[in-house]
Amino acid sequence: MNTSFDDFGLRPELIQAVTALGYVEPTPIQNGIIPLMMAGRDVMGQAQTGTGKTAAFSLPILHQLQPDATRPQALVVVPTRELAIQAHDMIRALGQFNEARVLAVYGGTSYSQQLGGLRLGVDVVVGTPGRLLDLIRREKLHLQDVRTVVLDEADEMLSMGFIEDVESILAATPAERQTTLFSATLPPRVRELAEKYLHDPKLVSIATPQMTVELVEQRYYVVNEQDKLAVLTRLFEMENISSALIFTRTRARTGDLVNELNMRGYPAEALSGDMSQEARERTMARFRGGQVRVLVATDVAARGLDVEGISHVFNFDLPDDPEVFVHRIGRTGRAGRAGVAISLARPAERGALRQIEKFTRQPMTETTIPTPEDIQAKRLDELMSKIQMWLRRQRVKEERALVETLVASGADPLDLAAVALKIARAEEKQRPIMEVSPLPVKATRPEYRERAPRSNAGRTDDRLRRTSRTAEEEGMVRLEMRLGKADGIRPGEVVGTIASVANIPGSSLGKILIQTHRTTVDVPEQYVKQVLAHNAKYSIRRQDFSLSVSG
Ligand code: AMP
Repeated sequence: MNTSFDDFGLRPELIQAVTALGYVEPTPIQNGIIPLMMAGRDVMGQAQTGTGKTAAFSLPILHQLQPDATRPQALVVVPTRELAIQAHDMIRALGQFNEARVLAVYGGTSYSQQLGGLRLGVDVVVGTPGRLLDLIRREKLHLQDVRTVVLDEADEMLSMGFIEDVESILAATPAERQTTLFSATLPPRVRELAEKYLHDPKLVSIATPQMTVELVEQRYYVVNEQDKLAVLTRLFEMENISSALIFTRTRARTGDLVNELNMRGYPAEALSGDMSQEARERTMARFRGGQVRVLVATDVAARGLDVEGISHVFNFDLPDDPEVFVHRIGRTGRAGRAGVAISLARPAERGALRQIEKFTRQPMTETTIPTPEDIQAKRLDELMSKIQMWLRRQRVKEERALVETLVASGADPLDLAAVALKIARAEEKQRPIMEVSPLPVKATRPEYRERAPRSNAGRTDDRLRRTSRTAEEEGMVRLEMRLGKADGIRPGEVVGTIASVANIPGSSLGKILIQTHRTTVDVPEQYVKQVLAHNAKYSIRRQDFSLSVSG
């Protein structure tokens, strides 16, 4: 079984597009379909929407496109206008780097735009049966050069009475074409169609579990109202978001949030009830196609949003009604995998969270807010994996030539690499990590805190709070290490080592007490996690040490 898109032998521009869309690994239907289609086989895929089937048939089609063709090379037939737009947007997004020309044709709109598109030259046509047939009959659409035909949602097409149209369309394509058929169900009529038009087809069947709230990973963060934006941007850094829908309470908040996010380097668009139908459709299409990854909406505005497979739903504001909550988060889950629903709750909203849990009969997990260190580590991680990927892929001929020129003119290769990394990371600076203020003390409840899996340097958990009684000053936690006078330890070294390794101001450290075999140091609460996180790295004159909370 393939675990990476690299294994399919697809063109690099397609891998680039897949990466840009945030796909980490192929879905089961993609693993099944792509190799078969690449090998030229006819295939029948049993898969529902949400399994990743569109990308499964689109990638091999895009891979096989010949440049400079004048007539369509592939045809995708779908039952509805909505699906035509969706498939078009997806193929376009996947074909963005190899400049594939994709056109959607469907009924209910004027011909002029679609005809204009056809005249300009098109590689892939996506359309509904009626309009396709119409264009063929008017001799505007020429399918003689089509090499691959996809019949998508075949069961729907048959139940909508399109069988004759579909047969006429197929008759206009070359007999030696590759034919693929996708259908959520395989009733006898679909099998008959496949038998008639597919040549020795291979069946790939994916049983998709129904996406329900049980399959949604539900988390919540308790945050002060004024910190919601900061927390959201921190989560954006940590989560692998391919598409996110954010719910706010009011339309005004939707607009504000979109502005704030854009200003801070996180592109987002609003979906609002007062937009014209056309503008709404455009925004939704861009969201479906992956050009817009983050959409902010109120419940009312999102009502008509027919998008499946959203990776993340954020409740920027909790809804008043638990039923609305279920409706919101039911939209997540992509390609048969669980989606993530994240709620930001004010300290006073814990009761509302419990109500929601009761209603959904699903627990939500309180999670601690990612710290700046978590984010920096994640950014570094991503940079490193990108570097590894390019080292493996080795398509850097032009860049190598540039490096050779620079080295020949006397630049040091290490310096060059460091400078290049600096430039690569410059973009991170556009997204400064926002401060999060501590919660009011009475809002920290041990039974919730204990469930929190991640650290938070901004706050100290109750265990630390309890064990810090021996610390001299309020707000300080006493840490200890197993080195002392006998090891020749001096206060200045303790401060210098901790401050530089943990990257905290040396002046923030409090009292230091050096005993024979033990030293204690008072550290401000907000830095304790950060100090403990660097435990593997402390050393004074070649003597390694670690710190622990002094009890
Ligand atoms: P589909 O079944 O084609 O309607 O796709 C459902 C959703 O899954 C779309 O939003 C795709 O962007 C997304 N998707 C497709 N392939 C993958 C993948 N390999 N990893 C993550 N998401 C995917």
